[in-house]
This record gives sequence, C-alpha cells and structure tokens, in this order.
Amino acid sequence: MPSHKLLPPKFAAIVEAEKEITRFLSDPCGRLALSYHESAHAIQFRRFGVETKYSGPVVSHDCPTDKFTACYGAVQVRDADYLRLAAEPEKLARVLVAGEIAEIVLIGKTDEGTADSDLSDFLIFAKGRPSELLLVWKRTREAYLRELSADLNQQREIVHLAALFEEEIFGTDRSVRETSNTPAEIAAA
Ligand SMILES: [Zn+2]
Repeated sequence: MPSHKLLPPKFAAIVEAEKEITRFLSDPCGRLALSYHESAHAIQFRRFGVETKYSGPVVSHDCPTDKFTACYGAVQVRDADYLRLAAEPEKLARVLVAGEIAEIVLIGKTDEGTADSDLSDFLIFAKGRPSELLLVWKRTREAYLRELSADLNQQREIVHLAALFEEEIFGTDRSVRETSNTPAEIAAA
C-alpha cells in the first residue's frame, strides 16, 4: 500500500483490518477452511498451466474506493494468465468454484458468502452475457462437486497442498512446534 496511507487519519482503518487478521488467524477452523479453499484454486490454476504463488496475510488498500481490506491469505497469479483463462469461461469457472467445493467436500460445510468474491470475479472477468455466465457457473459447480466427491486422490492433493499453504502463510511449522518449547526443555534451558 502507498506509504502516505500509513499517516493519520487513515491509521484507524489499518489497525482495524490488522485486528481482523489477528482474530481470523487465531481461529484454527477458519484457517483450515481457507487453506483448503486456496489450495483447491491453486491446483486448478496449475492444471491449466498457470503458475501460482501465495500471499498474505496483508492489509490491502483499494485506491478507487479508498478502502482497506484484510486479506488473510490467497493464491495469486499473473494478470495476463488470469485474463487468458477468462477468455474461456468454463476454465475460469472451474478454477473459481474449486475453493468453495473443496470446503464442502473436505470439511462438510462452508461459511455463507465464501464463494461470493469468486463468483463476482467470474462475472467481472469472464467473457459472455451474465445470464449465460451464471449458467456456466452453476453447471461447473455441480460437475466439480460430483468430481471431487468421488476423487480421493484429488482430495489428498488439496489436503497436502493446504498444509504447505498454512505453513507458508501462517508460519505453522508443526515439526518445530511439536519438538521444542516443551515444559521439560524450558526447565532445562
Ligand atoms: Zn476463492
């Protein structure tokens, strides 16, 4: 974000967004859902030959609206790759429905509104009339729900990638946490 935004009176908005991130990160269920969600997006992007990386957690600033939002962690791709996929709505839909569907299949539920931004992205970037695009979205969502429910290997792939995502984004390194700072070690130090 531009450095001038760090100056008052914007400061309160940033602090609020940072608090929101802290609240979110202290909730293991939310973190897990997000990890599955973003990893599922990543796997689909990669299947279409799109390179991905992870970012977050960050507070980001939207210049047109001058709003600060908290992003807990997300998969990112190059704009050019995204637009290339958007030229083929079926492909972009598949990538974008995958997050919510992974939560439904792997956790058994999803929080309301989880897929809202995915759907609005789809309607903004995919080429086509809104009514047709909504149909593509609905069809793709149903097909991927059936596919992932029946595909244990793909479920495993998401879980595996989600663990890497959690480690990268939230710094959750279980191997370290489990072997250090036990009471005995602290006492011996
Ligand atoms: Zn998503």
